[in-house]
Amino acid sequence: MTTVRAEEMLAVSDALARILSHFQTLPPEPIQTPNALGRVLAEDVRAQHDVPPFANSAMDGYAVRAQDVRDASQAHPVELPVVDDIPAGASPKKTVEPGTAARIMTGAPMPPGADAIVPVEDTDEQWHQAGRETLPAPGRIAIYQPTGPNRYVRPAGEDLAAGEVALARGTLLRPQELGVLASIGAVEITVFQRPKVAIFSTGDELLPIEAKITPGKIRDVNGHTLSNLVRTHGGIPLWLGIVPDHPDEVRTRLQSALDQGADVILSSAGVSVGAFDVVTNVLTEFGQINFWRVRMRPGKPLAFGLVKNVPFFGLPGNPVSAMVSYDVFARPAILKLGGRPWQIQTVPVVLGETLRSDGRESYLRVEVSRQNDQWVARSVGGQGSNLLTSMVRANALVIIPEGVKEARAGETYPARLIDSGIPLPPHDPTLD
Ligand code: AMP
Ligand code: MG
Repeated sequence: MTTVRAEEMLAVSDALARILSHFQTLPPEPIQTPNALGRVLAEDVRAQHDVPPFANSAMDGYAVRAQDVRDASQAHPVELPVVDDIPAGASPKKTVEPGTAARIMTGAPMPPGADAIVPVEDTDEQWHQAGRETLPAPGRIAIYQPTGPNRYVRPAGEDLAAGEVALARGTLLRPQELGVLASIGAVEITVFQRPKVAIFSTGDELLPIEAKITPGKIRDVNGHTLSNLVRTHGGIPLWLGIVPDHPDEVRTRLQSALDQGADVILSSAGVSVGAFDVVTNVLTEFGQINFWRVRMRPGKPLAFGLVKNVPFFGLPGNPVSAMVSYDVFARPAILKLGGRPWQIQTVPVVLGETLRSDGRESYLRVEVSRQNDQWVARSVGGQGSNLLTSMVRANALVIIPEGVKEARAGETYPARLIDSGIPLPPHDPTLD
């Protein structure tokens, strides 16, 4: 394999386009619907039957023929004999003949013959008395208001008609989509496989979360932020651990990522000038890696390429840079693998203060709030790429485009909202 070590200076959009050309959506797999929260449909799902399956009452009241109560009023109520009593879940057989009514509950099927509902509020009857159970149906009912044909009737198929596409391929399954699948009895569906993302943190200075701090050492942060970002974007993180700056260690981890069938490999640190030499040779043994300098801030150094045939990202080491580089480059790739829409949405925000940049495309941490009918962005303070608590205070990254060194208060710029990051739950066997 050819070893290329091009150090190129790239615009963000060029780097992203090159990266995405290496990613195709993964194949589908079957899943039980109760376990499918956060997954993405790999097929169109059609309704097997009408929803609702039968015409039913939208109100507690009386099923009638609209014609019979056309002239009902407070002064001249229409009195009808009550021929049936239909609770939800019943299957009424008796026909509502002209001049009769049937008591009916919300959601109960319309009886044959009836074409409209009179709500109980428009009659002389009270169903509930304090401290008592529902009263039995009366023999006769006085109706004080007219109703029209199909009034308060929910027709069969009002929500979904049999054969209609209920949910299209590519739909992200949220609670409401899972409810729709339940309504049509879709027990098993096919979804795109979740991308397996191997992650490791490089650096001799790194300690795991539980270690006691010793001189010169810090705790690994990127392993945690990156693993959890991957989870929030539908991926399965394969944590390969902290890797000392030594070629053998890097070799072992890359091999382990390949052995575990990773769809992507993410590493952090060691991509800034000079520092990477330790692992460069190892990476080039495994494939073709490009060392880019992207015209963005934070996150200028970025390595991207193929380890055997698996896309590899070498993200910057500083925790904010690692998160922002992930967001701009790795997140769209992981979303695309998982069959989700990967185009990142931005919203326009007005700057509440002047922000400075060095002319690179800058992603500045801001807090956006509503002021005088506008969304106004203010810096959360120090923008150092080592200051991770600024990512806790920020709710958006405002994007100052390439070439702009001074973005003035009152000007409008696009912002990426930092999402709430809801991860996929682990598989729950009790739902099978
Ligand atoms: P490097 O890219 O190796 O020069 O690292 C840049 C900075 O990021 C250094 O201050 C590192 O100590 C820091 N850093 C690298 N990796 C991590 C990590 N996993 N967690 C926290 N800080 C890190
Ligand atoms: Mg380092």
